[in-house]
Amino acid sequence: MSTHETACCIVGGGPAGTMLALLLARQDVPVTLLESHLNFDRDFRGDTLHPSVMEILDSIGLAGRLLSRRHAKIDRLSIQTPEESLPLIDLRRLRTPYPYITLIPQVDFLDFITTEAKRYPHFQLRMGANVQELVTKNGSVQGVRYRTTNGDWHEVHAQLTIGADGRFSRLRRLAKLEPQTTKPPMDILWFRLPRQPDDPVDAGATLRIGPGHLLVLQNRHSYWQIGYAILKDSYSYVRSAGLEALQRSVGELVPWAHDRVGYLSTWQDIAVLSVGADRLSQWYQAGLLLIGDAAHVMSPVGGIGINYAIHDAVVAANILARPLRSHTVHERHLADIQRQREWPTRVIQAFQAQIQQRLVAPALRDSASFRLPLAIRLAPRIPLLRTFPAHMIAFGPKRVRVEART
Ligand SMILES: Cc1cc2nc3c(=O)[nH]c(=O)nc-3n(C[C@H](O)[C@H](O)[C@H](O)COP(=O)(O)OP(=O)(O)OC[C@H]3O[C@@H](n4cnc5c(N)ncnc54)[C@H](O)[C@@H]3O)c2cc1C
Repeated sequence: MSTHETACCIVGGGPAGTMLALLLARQDVPVTLLESHLNFDRDFRGDTLHPSVMEILDSIGLAGRLLSRRHAKIDRLSIQTPEESLPLIDLRRLRTPYPYITLIPQVDFLDFITTEAKRYPHFQLRMGANVQELVTKNGSVQGVRYRTTNGDWHEVHAQLTIGADGRFSRLRRLAKLEPQTTKPPMDILWFRLPRQPDDPVDAGATLRIGPGHLLVLQNRHSYWQIGYAILKDSYSYVRSAGLEALQRSVGELVPWAHDRVGYLSTWQDIAVLSVGADRLSQWYQAGLLLIGDAAHVMSPVGGIGINYAIHDAVVAANILARPLRSHTVHERHLADIQRQREWPTRVIQAFQAQIQQRLVAPALRDSASFRLPLAIRLAPRIPLLRTFPAHMIAFGPKRVRVEART
């Protein structure tokens, strides 16, 4: 078994892991990033970068370069029911150079960040490195053991190991860190429909509510990625109602796409995602820190998981770069990262729970008597009801910034 030494070993090449790797490498910290897949091209990914993330990229000189890649922008969100259409969120009045949500396929974003990271000599990326075990000594994590796609085993020894390995985090399981879980009221059917050049450009900015269903579209240039929310654990009912009923419902929610619903020709075209949300009460132990979805799986409400994962990475890099360089990482540094990141995560999860309880669950549960909540009905007339959620979506409860090198 080969052994490799580094200061920081990051497991998981998602938004949290790649951003942390880039931020540490540009601060001259030796960092090794391990990703189990051979590429970043996975289907079950979101695409939204909110203004806070664009500001973070701007502060390290990357926003312009990212925006030179193919992307789409959304500066308002609205909500549409069979009876009415109401504005929900307006980002245009936010005080930021990036008053919009940038939509860029996550595969392109991760490719962009790792390409930037490769410019730094301290960065190493190992694709196809599936981490299986923690290396521990005297109760402290000292690195990981991983298997490559051809079955070889390797060990990475590190001063600090970061679990950024997502919602099914193996590191969190190996470390026996238990999350507190909640069960949002929906599951998601995830499928594609072809996109045509004359489709409405702002179609992705509307949350569509139909009888017992919610639907959002994400513009992936050649196709629409569709998230179709159903009541939790109700997939067997949707399936027994038949594919034609689903096609009809999609056609009603997105009338200009009704000519294409036939592309959903088998249930194999449709993935079922069980929606969960959770948060660890302890994000670290000696030699190990968990960030991103590995520390807190976010509900899909507001499309903020990527952004929170990146915020964790920024705070972790701010706190860890210096002690990693001087070989003086202590548990108090890890506790400080949890302290700075846990409360914004709690606040936004509570905010998501309110939207689930007041909007999502009633819409999915009781379609006949469903009415939009009063706060949404009043939003067009009361600016605060539009700007507060816009601010929360854009920045969360606390703005996160990359600190200058120390
Ligand atoms: C269908 C879907 C749509 C979504 N849409 C949005 C959206 O529009 N906007 C938004 O902000 N959020 C969205 N999210 C949530 C968002 O994708 C996540 O919150 C975000 O990706 C979390 O980033 P992360 O880096 O913590 O974890 P992940 O992105 O999950 O990355 C974890 C990485 O770790 C790797 N890994 C796992 N185990 C191992 C191992 N043992 N060894 C090595 N590598 C490993 C995985 O392959 C993966 O690349 C969506 C989620 C889903 C499922």
